[in-house]
Amino acid sequence: MSSSTITPWVVGNWKLNPMRADALQLIEEFKALLQQQSISPEHCHIGVAPTAIALTEVKAQLDDANRKIYTVAQDVSRIAGTGAYTGEVSAELLKDSQIEFVLIGHSERRELFGDNVEILKAKLQNALSAGLTVIYCIGESLEQREQGAAEQVVLQQICDIAAVVKAEQWQNIVVAYEPIWAIGTGKTASPADVQAMHAKIREGLKQITAFGADMAILYGGSVKAENAVELAACPDINGALVGGASLNAESFYQIAKAFAQSK
Ligand code: PEP
Repeated sequence: MSSSTITPWVVGNWKLNPMRADALQLIEEFKALLQQQSISPEHCHIGVAPTAIALTEVKAQLDDANRKIYTVAQDVSRIAGTGAYTGEVSAELLKDSQIEFVLIGHSERRELFGDNVEILKAKLQNALSAGLTVIYCIGESLEQREQGAAEQVVLQQICDIAAVVKAEQWQNIVVAYEPIWAIGTGKTASPADVQAMHAKIREGLKQITAFGADMAILYGGSVKAENAVELAACPDINGALVGGASLNAESFYQIAKAFAQSK
């Protein structure tokens, strides 16, 4: 299978937004847009990652849409199962609540909440063992890019997890390349730069896993309706992880439509 036959993914990362009433309204608006003109699941997978407290309510609301929309957790505990771990949400608990997807390694978790490689490996192992699909986020800082180390950093972030992913589990991983300097800044990496990095990531994945050619590699970093068509046209950009623009139903819909129409 060539990379361009991969069904694209468009996933909205709501981060610590919005308040409950606004979240419910946002989903209703998005579902209404899909009612007017649907986007086939065969052309684009769509997911939404709300706050932990909203997961089950949002899931119930999304399950009511005219097509499958996945509910994605923004994080998972490094602790497995259940027990005396105040404040944690384990992979098993997500699975038990029919939440099948989780973001791991978002740069905000790495930078603000101390998610180092050992913690990420534990989270990944727990999520995959519980049967979740993981959206594994990688990306370099501006300083690393300016030092010419972007490619090395990103490939290392993939190698970091290789030891804990079993051969067959690679098919349950989606990679999201998110250069840190492009997240929430309005600065998008150029489609040519993103394509070049995704091609390198693809090569790296192919060396590690037999599923490398078939894995979706998403781009994240100030994706908007205005730049989605150009990004979606690149063969190795298999979708988008969308922050700010996913908080507007029309923008998020247009991004999903751009990817659905591109492949
Ligand atoms: C993100 O947080 O994953 C992200 C890509 O944010 P934004 O689209 O706002 O840059």
